[in-house]
Amino acid sequence: MSVLVYTESEKGKFKKNAFEAASYASAVAKMMDTTVTAIAFNSTDNESLGEYGVSKVMNVADDSLTTFNAGAYAASIAEAVKSTDAKVVILSSSTDTKYLAPLLSAKLSAGYAPNVVQAPDSTSPFTVKRTAFSNKGFAHTQIDTDIKIVGVSNNAFGAHENKVDVSVEDISGTADSATNDTKSVEIDKVVGKATIADADIVVSAGRGMKGPENWGMIEELADVLGAATACSKPVSDLGWRPHGEHVGQTGKPVASNLYIAIGISGAIQHLAGVSASKTKVVINNDPEAPFFKAADYGIVGDAFEVVPQLIEKLKDFKAQNG
Ligand SMILES: Cc1cc2nc3c(=O)[nH]c(=O)nc-3n(C[C@H](O)[C@H](O)[C@H](O)COP(=O)(O)OP(=O)(O)OC[C@H]3O[C@@H](n4cnc5c(N)ncnc54)[C@H](O)[C@@H]3O)c2cc1C
Repeated sequence: MSVLVYTESEKGKFKKNAFEAASYASAVAKMMDTTVTAIAFNSTDNESLGEYGVSKVMNVADDSLTTFNAGAYAASIAEAVKSTDAKVVILSSSTDTKYLAPLLSAKLSAGYAPNVVQAPDSTSPFTVKRTAFSNKGFAHTQIDTDIKIVGVSNNAFGAHENKVDVSVEDISGTADSATNDTKSVEIDKVVGKATIADADIVVSAGRGMKGPENWGMIEELADVLGAATACSKPVSDLGWRPHGEHVGQTGKPVASNLYIAIGISGAIQHLAGVSASKTKVVINNDPEAPFFKAADYGIVGDAFEVVPQLIEKLKDFKAQNG
């Protein structure tokens, strides 16, 4: 018996959430007195998982699976669960795992708890703490099925080094005709920028920016900080910014270490997507803007005056501190 973790990669390299999921799997394995096996797809840096407590990597080396395919990935992971007799399967929180988790749950007759934020309260019964009500509360959820699937929130448990010896085995993918009805035919991806899901810092702006022509300073601030850019829903609805940047209840969740909100009012639907971020800085010219109630730091001021000054100060700071 082992704990199995699905480690996501892109172009052969593991994503940050893969190391977080591996660390979580390692914590669960410790509680259950067992080891961690990872399943990866066409990954080239498998040994790196040993740094996070993974003792065996099953790498699906299959040219037909270089891009995510929910049905085929679920089939291969289910096969790995059976061959390793895993009782707990760990996933990260991503768009891909949103497709993957229900398929896997159905295939394995396994209960699935998403949005988990800390190591299990107990493994017998198996109980985990997860966010609920759009991050407004927590639920302690007990999974009673023989096999349990846990989805770990990004940036919640963290990646923890815990070096062990690791072996890597290349395996073939498992064909799955039943669930192959949907597949990605084209992926239109922003290149060369930090993504909202992986970024440590997110600079986000709203309708207070008045128009798309004013996003230069938002992008400049993001560049100085090495941050991803994001926006409120109306901004993407108006076509000022791409839909992929829209955060909130109906957009992407953000769990960054720093979230800077500029000209965003802080409507409940927006806050629902950013409440998992650790430090929130709000810049708004209305001292009554609701976002200030959720902020750790607030600047009451005109974004068109505050942001350029912030950029200048950050550039000076970087020049002086290398
Ligand atoms: C079912 C449903 C789901 C929704 N889902 C989402 C969602 O996922 N994400 C989301 O964001 N919204 C969502 N919304 C919309 C949400 O209710 C708000 O309407 C939206 O978040 C407001 O966007 P905003 O803050 O950019 O714009 P506004 O509400 O127009 O606020 C603009 C802010 O900018 C400030 N401002 C103006 N000028 C300046 C200046 N010069 N300098 C500094 N500040 C300035 C203003 O004081 C104001 O606070 C949803 C709504 C519904 C009904």
